[in-house]
Amino acid sequence: MPKLDCSATNCTYNKDKLCAKGDILVRGSSAEKPSETCCDSFIGAGRDCYCNSSANGKEKIAVACEAINCVFNENRSCTAKHIGISGTKAHSSSETECASFQNR
Ligand code: SF4
Repeated sequence: MPKLDCSATNCTYNKDKLCAKGDILVRGSSAEKPSETCCDSFIGAGRDCYCNSSANGKEKIAVACEAINCVFNENRSCTAKHIGISGTKAHSSSETECASFQNR
């Protein structure tokens, strides 16, 4: 499982730049660059969710990923050791991206 750094601090799951969700889904089935991917699991802070808001962020996280053009994608799972999700100012999923995407 990748180690995840996430700068989308407006996400309700974000705990000190770690993700408390446990798993995430990255979208971008036809992506050829990072900006064409996004973290589908982003939920804006304050929105209803079923997460435990007191859950701690996890260093390593399961990443299901539809960005099949990425070198790290194997059978729609991410095999990178370390990834970064960007979205410092994101207020929606579409404003995030997987900064670690590398086109094959
Ligand atoms: S590094 Fe590649 S395979 Fe891993 S989550 Fe990002 S886009 Fe998907």
